[in-house]
This record gives sequence, structure tokens and C-alpha cells, in this order.
Amino acid sequence: MKKSRDKFSEKEASYHREQAEDLAQERVHELKQLNESEKDELLSELHIHQIELELQNRELRESQSRLEFVQRQYAELYNEAPVGYASLDQNGLIVRCNNTLATMLGSTPDFIKSRPLVHFISKKDHAVFLGRYRAFVKSPADKFIDVQFHTKNPEQGDGTTFIGRIQGRHITRHESAPQLKNETLLVAISDVTVQKENEDRVQHQAFHDALTGLPNRINLTGHITTALALAGRQNRFGALLFMDIDRFKTVNDSLGHQVGDELLVRFVERLSANLRKQDLLVRLGGDEFVLLLAEQHNDRIQMAKVAKWVAINLIRSLTEPFLVAGHNIQVEISLGISLFPSHDDDTPVDVLRQADTAMYQAKADPSTAIAFFDFDMQERARRRLSLEGQFRIALEKEHFELHYQPQVNLQGEIVALEALIRWHHPDHGLMTPALFIPVAEETGLIVPMGEWVIDAATRQIARWQEQGLCKPEFQVAINISTRQIQENSFATVIEQALKTAAVPAQSVALEITESLLLPNDKRCSVQLHRLSQQGLTFSVDDFGTGYSSLSVLQQAPIGELKIDRRFISGLGSDVQEPRSNLALVRLIISMAKELDMQVVAEGVETLQQLEVLRSLKCDLIQGYLFSKPVSVSHINELLKGGPIIIDER
Ligand SMILES: [Mg+2]
Repeated sequence: MKKSRDKFSEKEASYHREQAEDLAQERVHELKQLNESEKDELLSELHIHQIELELQNRELRESQSRLEFVQRQYAELYNEAPVGYASLDQNGLIVRCNNTLATMLGSTPDFIKSRPLVHFISKKDHAVFLGRYRAFVKSPADKFIDVQFHTKNPEQGDGTTFIGRIQGRHITRHESAPQLKNETLLVAISDVTVQKENEDRVQHQAFHDALTGLPNRINLTGHITTALALAGRQNRFGALLFMDIDRFKTVNDSLGHQVGDELLVRFVERLSANLRKQDLLVRLGGDEFVLLLAEQHNDRIQMAKVAKWVAINLIRSLTEPFLVAGHNIQVEISLGISLFPSHDDDTPVDVLRQADTAMYQAKADPSTAIAFFDFDMQERARRRLSLEGQFRIALEKEHFELHYQPQVNLQGEIVALEALIRWHHPDHGLMTPALFIPVAEETGLIVPMGEWVIDAATRQIARWQEQGLCKPEFQVAINISTRQIQENSFATVIEQALKTAAVPAQSVALEITESLLLPNDKRCSVQLHRLSQQGLTFSVDDFGTGYSSLSVLQQAPIGELKIDRRFISGLGSDVQEPRSNLALVRLIISMAKELDMQVVAEGVETLQQLEVLRSLKCDLIQGYLFSKPVSVSHINELLKGGPIIIDER
């Protein structure tokens, strides 16, 4: 068959050849028939055609050289581009790469070719790379992968590392470029180490405190959310500790902010050294810190124990003072603990607020530095807050009134009065100080309230003296809080009030607490002596419950001791340590006599108590047995009447 086809082709070729030869002979014959002018014309046409061919050839050569130039340029650009390029085949093997990539990888294009890209990625990032590679290959234009590359040059040994960002696109196959047939993906790898470092730094700054480097509030919210979720899923309890430095403002005010800042840095160092790594210490701002414990327990009590143990450890770590800029600074903290979750729908804000509330509780209670949050506490805090608002209004509108409680001598004669404040509350009626003094003290409103009391009492004394109900030596006692006496203007306020009301100093006694008599409180001592020199007397309230040292008692200008009601209540009855109470009261009275002081027994309610006090020769008696604190009109009646006779049934 094949043979017959070849035969046929030979036959055909010979036929065509014969045809061509016939045609050529025909043309030669035609040429011979042409005259001279026709020959010239034909030659001229041929010449033109030759020139045209020449021109076409030149254009072709120029195009060729331009193409070569562009190709060289492309190769140069490809090789020297600022990013590394590699073409990968379907299996992720590198088919070709540019010089930049080879340099970046500390290697040569020859070494790189035919190796998988993952070969040059640090082991620790293999999982990241392989995990994302499939999605990347699917739509490389929308994605990038940041991984650490490890330079591996067999000649240089293991080199350095850099963070490379892999971006890419699919390679379109083209029939005119069969050499690209294996290449499916073109990847560009750029060194983003510096960029990543900057990004990390910005990220770090956004989530950390600049002074101490600790995580900040933004950071904390996310962690509490996670901890809440974890506790919820596993039916466990976690703990958050909220702390601040007591009297930190004093450090800033007296030693300057630089010392304050330095102290905070040292404080954080000390705390951090005493914490477990997995616990999260956060600076909320100022001197407020939060510690979120990593440990969680399915027993709430157990979690509370762990949290308390951590808190105690932290407090212990602060025993040694901090040496900052030549100053020895003793730091104490108050610490509130919130155990969470307390409800299913607790939010990070709830947890934080609860710990904060507990911290304020710890701060308000001098006997402890640690307090756990409970819901009564929250309710108290809420009530306190609302009371504070109402108290401010009461101060503005003077919704207060003074009641007076008589102090009688052993003959039943009223020889002095104690002024006691009452608040006419719009909803709760007449409120006694126990209900609002703590709020007034915490908020500092005790100072303006105290000034109102001083003014009101001195005006009332003036009225009684005008009415002839009291002689100048008849004393009215005014209670003074520690906070008031710490004000530099305290003595001036008293002097001014006496002057305005035209009341002699001897008519007023100031009741102070034992804590004011501590030897190191110079400022108070100065004020006490200044007022004492003008004839005012001081009385120590609730005596026996504080920590007066005898020497201080002797040095301070004290004219009177008021024995605390707790000692009186046990007197004359057979129950509750009567002997020790009796011994103490006897001791106080005899000591007062030795020191030339007057003694008042507070809270006297029974005849038995009166009898004992009488036998001990106590000077004055105050208590419900004679009269509770009463209004001015009632006092007027009492002052007009004779001695108060107690019915000795
Ligand atoms: Mg008092």
C-alpha cells in the first residue's frame, strides 16, 4: 500500500516538474517576443521589487534586534527585581527563580531549582505554610503567606533567617511559549522582616502600657472574655485581683512624678518576680493593676483559697521598702478579688467592676488589705453612691439639725451637752450619724459638714447664754473627725466661729479620737496646742478602744476622757466579763484623776451601771438613763428644770 502511494507521488512530482518546465519555456519564449522598451519596463519592475524586499528584510532585522533587547531587559528585570521570583510547578517544586531570590536564600539559582519551596522555610513555620498553601494556590491573588525563611547554602552552611511574604498569581499557559508548560504558579517573595517588626511594635504599643511594658486595659478585656468562656465551658471558677497602691498620690505630690513613675516600674518588677508566668498582670492606669489568674477550679472555695494565697504572697513581696532616687518608700496595697462567673451572663466589665468594688471595700477597712466581692457589697456600694449624692444636696440645702445629749454629774445636774448631728432625709426621715458619717468620711464631705456643725453649735451656745440658760463655763462638746483636724485651716475655722457667735472658748469642748494622739502626727498636735492656748478643752472620745500611749496622753492638751460605752455596758451585771470591765473602768478613772482629767462615762443605761460609776467617783454620766439626744426645745425645758432625778425602783 505504502509502496503504491510512493509510486503515485513520484508520478505526480514528475508531472508537476514537466508542467513547470513548460511554463518556464513559455515565459522565455514570451521574453524573446518582447521588444526593447517592454524589456526595460520589466527590468525596472523587477528592480523595484528587489528594493522592496530589501526594505522588508531591514525591518525584520530591526524587529528582531528590538525583541532581543526587550528579552534581555526582561531577563535583567526578572533577575535583579527587588523581590524574589520563583515559578512553581503543580507539585510546588521550583522550576526557575531569579537571582534576587537566590541571594535572599543565600544560595544559587541552580541549587534552588527542582527543590520544593518549603525546603527553604524554617521548620517552625512548616505547619503554617502547608496549612495555608492549598487555599493560596486556589486563589493566590487574594492571599499571602508570611513565614520565616532560613537561608541554606551548602557552601556557607546554615545562615540567617528573614520573614518572607509570599504573594503570587497563576501562570497562563501559552502555546507560543512551550518552555513554560510546567510552570503553574509565579510567586514573589519579599523580605518583610522590618515591616513585621514595626507592625509588631505598633501592635505592642496599642496593647501595652508604655511605662511598665505590661499589657493594658484593651488587652485585658479579651483575656477576661476568654477566661469567662473557659470557666463556663468547663464549669469552673476563675479569679481576678484588682489592686492599687495606698496613698500613691502622696508619693507623686511630695516626691514628684518622676519618682512616682520609677516607683511604679520597680513595683511591677517586684510583683512580676513573685507571679507565675501564666498569670496576666495588667496596668489599668495610674497606680491601678489587675491580675487575672490562669488557674481555675471547679470548686469555688478552692479558687477563693488560691486567689487569697496569691494576694497574700503579693502583699508579702512588698514588705521591703523600695529605694527610689534616694528615698525609702514603703508601699502598701489594697486588693479586691472577684470570683467569676457569678452569673451566666457575666461580662468582662462586670468582673472588673466587682473586683474594683471589693478593692474599695478593702481600702475602707483598715483591718485588712484583701476583700472578696459579694453581692451585698455591690448593693452597699450602690446605696453608698446614692447616699453620697443625696448627702451633697443635704449639705447645700442645710438639711441638718443638731440634737444635744446632756451630761450630768453624780447629783443629776446637767453640767454639759454633746452636740450630735441629725439629717432630715426626704425619704428616710431623721437619720443618725452612724448611717451617713462613713460616707461623709470616705468622700471628704465630713469637712464641710463638720464646719456646719461648728457654726450651728456655736450659734446655739450664744443663744443659750443670751437666754441665761447656760453660764460661760457650761460646756457644749462638738465631735471633730480626724479628717477635719488634718485640714490646715481647722484652728482658724474654730476661732472664726467663736468670734462670729461671740462665744468664749471655755464654753466649747472638742471631742477627738484617740488615733489623733499618735506621736507622729505633728500637724494635729500643732493645731491642738494652738486652740488649747486659747482656752478650748479637748476630750478623748471612745477612750480605751484606740492605741493611746500614756506619754502622749500626758503631753497633749487633754482635759477629759470619755470611757467607751463597750466598757460601761458590762458594768454591774453578772454576764460578760464584768470583772475585767470593772477593772478597766476603775483603772481609767484613777489614771484620769492622776493626770488631772475629768472622766465621762458614755452609754449609761442602767441603775446598776450608775451605782458602780458612782462608787468609782466617775465625774460625769451620759446615756439613755438620763436622756437620749434631744432637740433644742427639749433641751431648753431640761435646762430650765432642776436636777434629773432617777427613779430608784
Ligand atoms: Mg462623741
